[in-house]
Amino acid sequence: MAKAPQDLQIAILGAGMGGLTCALALAQRGFKNIDVYENAHDLGFVGAGIQLAPNMARVLDGLGVWKPIEAEAVNIGDTSVRVGADNSELAHVELGYIKETYGYRHMVGHRSSLANGLYQGCLKESAIKFHFATTASAVESFGPRPTFTATPRDGGSPYKVECDILLGADGIKSETRQAMMKLLDVNTGVKDTNQAAYRIMIHKDQIKDDPELLALINSTTVTRWIGEKRHIIAYAVSNNTIYNLSTTQPDTNFAAATNATYTTKGDKKAMLNVFADFCPMVQRLLDYVPEGEVCEWKLRVHDPLPTWIHKSVALVGDACHPTLPHLAQGAAQAIEDGAVIAVALSRLPDTTPESINKALRVYEKVRKERAETLVEMAAASGRALHLGDGAAKAERDRQFAELKAKGGKGPVPDKWADADVQRNIYGFDCTKVTEEQFDELFSQM
Ligand SMILES: Cc1cc2nc3c(=O)[nH]c(=O)nc-3n(C[C@H](O)[C@H](O)[C@H](O)COP(=O)(O)OP(=O)(O)OC[C@H]3O[C@@H](n4cnc5c(N)ncnc54)[C@H](O)[C@@H]3O)c2cc1C
Repeated sequence: MAKAPQDLQIAILGAGMGGLTCALALAQRGFKNIDVYENAHDLGFVGAGIQLAPNMARVLDGLGVWKPIEAEAVNIGDTSVRVGADNSELAHVELGYIKETYGYRHMVGHRSSLANGLYQGCLKESAIKFHFATTASAVESFGPRPTFTATPRDGGSPYKVECDILLGADGIKSETRQAMMKLLDVNTGVKDTNQAAYRIMIHKDQIKDDPELLALINSTTVTRWIGEKRHIIAYAVSNNTIYNLSTTQPDTNFAAATNATYTTKGDKKAMLNVFADFCPMVQRLLDYVPEGEVCEWKLRVHDPLPTWIHKSVALVGDACHPTLPHLAQGAAQAIEDGAVIAVALSRLPDTTPESINKALRVYEKVRKERAETLVEMAAASGRALHLGDGAAKAERDRQFAELKAKGGKGPVPDKWADADVQRNIYGFDCTKVTEEQFDELFSQM
């Protein structure tokens, strides 16, 4: 008897948001053999917040994991863009309309809550097997049967894995991408953005005697303090018990570093220095970070890849479209990837490598242009936020002033809060679009 598509063996490299979503969405569409290989010993919950945009929530809800994540998240009522130096408000945009427009509220949450929600969903699926503490390397064959080497980190012998479909969801440093591009003779070095980020969480009990900061943590406002080449975005997460700050600043600490690490323990004094000319309230906030808990990330991207697919291998998430955080869409886009791949593979007419490749190219068709547009838009928004004195900044601030005069209605230089941008990002139902367009796109491949 011919093999059914759902019997195909699928290997997923990486258990980040992209890999977890692929696994869960595929299992829910009846795939029975899904193996997830993750380098880390566990999900390695990063202490940081994350925006849970409506396009992400829609996918998560479709997978049945949104409710617990939503229960711990904070609903965003509005956003305030402020001058870092004096805390004066440049613009204020109400975001309450998002729920009625897109069906989901715009929420913010803890990364661990999002990852754990997806993981708990996966644990309910007997089709998914996790291989933690296992490093995948040396993708040798890309099809008809992809192969790679799995190396247990705790001392077991490396072994070769063969599968029908390989999904490289292994993040910005993706080995899968490197192997694929090497084979295709494409040079896609990771691009330096010259930007780095501190990610900070302040607990409510740390600021209990500071009414000004308590007001921030109790609010439903996303605040952005901006300055030349730097900004801070901040919001409360975990039912308003933690205040999350994510900064962007010129990368000086990593400047000389190699590719080996994109994250490091930062120096608190250096962090305070970066924002030394920001207002006293911001400085007070930053000063609450315990010594030794300053974590700095290097922000990297790469040029658009010529393809995300080779034979029966596909790239997913940051492996193929790493995005600067200024639009808060990187994880949302990785999650869309997972949802679209599952729909495309579930519609396979047969299990030949040719059909697998065509279905993966349908995934690429639905996703690539959209994701790459957002990568560019996030970079452009960052450039606008980080302007120094000059004509461009004067024009940006004129737009902010006009927005303020119109009660928050109109184009927003901070693209994250712009209604037209939101329409394109939040209004896109990736699962529905793939369902509707699959047959036509597949026939064109
Ligand atoms: C400062 C900052 C703020 C952000 N804020 C937001 C936000 O508000 N909203 C949003 O949507 N996005 C945000 N993002 C982006 C988001 O974090 C990423 O886009 C997202 O996490 C990418 O998910 P991923 O699964 O593709 O990759 P990753 O999360 O990097 O996961 C890849 C996984 O693969 C594993 N792995 C790597 N190599 C191997 C190997 N060889 N073998 C086995 N396993 C391997 C890794 O251990 C990791 O678990 C932000 C990013 C930054 C830096």
